[in-house]
Amino acid sequence: MQKSTGKVRVRFAPSPTGGLHLGGVRTVLYNYLFAKKHDGEFILRIEDTDQTRFVEGAEQYIYDCLKWCGLEPDESPMQGGAFGPYRQSERKLMYHDYALQLIHAGHAYYAFDTHEDLEKMRADFKTTENPSPQYDSNLRTKMKNSLTLSAEEVERNIKEGVPYVVRIKVPANETITFTDLIHHEVSFDSNVVDDKVLLKADGMPTYHLAVVVDDYLMKITHAFRGEEWLSSSPVHILLWKYLFGLDQMPQWAHLPLILGPSGKLSKRDGAKFGFPVYAMNWTDPKTKDFTEGFKEKGFLPGAFINLLALLGWNDGTGQELFSMDELITQFSIERVHKSGAKFDYEKAKWFNHEWIKKSTVEELFPDIKKIFEAKEVVIEEETHFKNIMELVKDRCTLMTDFYEQAIYFFKAPEVLDTEAVKPKWNEAKTDFFETYCAQLHELNVWNVASIEDSFKTLATEKNIKPGELQLPMRIMLVGGKFGPAVFEIAHKIGKSATISRIKTALVQLNK
Ligand code: GLU
Repeated sequence: MQKSTGKVRVRFAPSPTGGLHLGGVRTVLYNYLFAKKHDGEFILRIEDTDQTRFVEGAEQYIYDCLKWCGLEPDESPMQGGAFGPYRQSERKLMYHDYALQLIHAGHAYYAFDTHEDLEKMRADFKTTENPSPQYDSNLRTKMKNSLTLSAEEVERNIKEGVPYVVRIKVPANETITFTDLIHHEVSFDSNVVDDKVLLKADGMPTYHLAVVVDDYLMKITHAFRGEEWLSSSPVHILLWKYLFGLDQMPQWAHLPLILGPSGKLSKRDGAKFGFPVYAMNWTDPKTKDFTEGFKEKGFLPGAFINLLALLGWNDGTGQELFSMDELITQFSIERVHKSGAKFDYEKAKWFNHEWIKKSTVEELFPDIKKIFEAKEVVIEEETHFKNIMELVKDRCTLMTDFYEQAIYFFKAPEVLDTEAVKPKWNEAKTDFFETYCAQLHELNVWNVASIEDSFKTLATEKNIKPGELQLPMRIMLVGGKFGPAVFEIAHKIGKSATISRIKTALVQLNK
């Protein structure tokens, strides 16, 4: 079925109705990898024919997400291209001819049923075996359409402006079959496929007509989309057959669902378990409903892409860390799994941690800088700042961890976890730290070795195990039980800050 010649052209065709779910980004990624691997083109097409679902700002948001992920299209509404316009609402008139062509060939018909007529049909034909009757090859004969009304009535209705839709005439008793790159041979019984609306009363096409017409006009060779669209595919196959011929049809791949703790991973799962589900933060302009994004949570785009690539695919060697270039070379759609892929947030964080570790501070610096600046920390000496980031880098799982892991290098901790040391606190320890402060004050050479040596010598003199004094020292300098080697920290924050933090802590500990 695949067109044998010509460039590979794939598309991501979102409806601009809200935030971009990680499943959507994975669809983009698989399309993108396939296109780049085959030296092809990746197109972003905005499917906005359902005006009732239009959401202000959603299109720009999708574009920003793709940009952040490094998955920029070759053609899109924003940058244009030879097959535009790329927004379906701007292509409205193009679809009409195809709808007419289908009507003339007997594959579609006008339907004048009102909302009440449809309700009545659903109520009248409801049985226990068929709880939700559909407008299909069986029931269409009982409705108000150009198959049941006379030609004169149809003409009069249209002339008088009676609202109508155009529906596909799905044939009865046929098997609709196509080959999917992941699911292989897929078949549907046409009797369970309803006569979907192709053209709405407002003259806009529905997604079903528009997607087929646009995939044809935009010369799409491969269409990869989420598995939730598999049930719509028989309608699309029929439209391809009636309008353009099956030999023109793109190759389909329906990608496995991404699963959460209970079924398909949802926004609600994210809110409930405290992990992001969207690529970037999204606030619905009407409801003000907020959903957290991977970007703002502190994920690196490379890590996000890496973890998404493995949600439903692997290269068979057990390799887990992939750069975009490696993914482009190693990806193959045939290796995408059929069954759903389980999203595991702990594993997602593991990917990010690995990506932080393998990135240089130089590469991470622009993002880290933004995080500190957002907290109103002014970076005075860039080299010093970068040295500190180097020191804490491997301890950060999320980019946002850099702040907590490093802020105490720049300002004294506001809260000290004194509870961690209080139970074993005694006068001997107070005495130790008071003497140590005095010694530090006199120290001529301020380096890690000199700070550590005087600490250990004094501990031996006072007959206290250094191990019992290191945790208190850490709490005094950092505020909590974390951070790199404590003498390293003292060295970096400097003599006067070290002394003053110890003194402040002693006051609290001896209260
Ligand atoms: N507009 C559909 C969506 O919102 C596109 C599905 C397809 O790729 O055919 O996901």
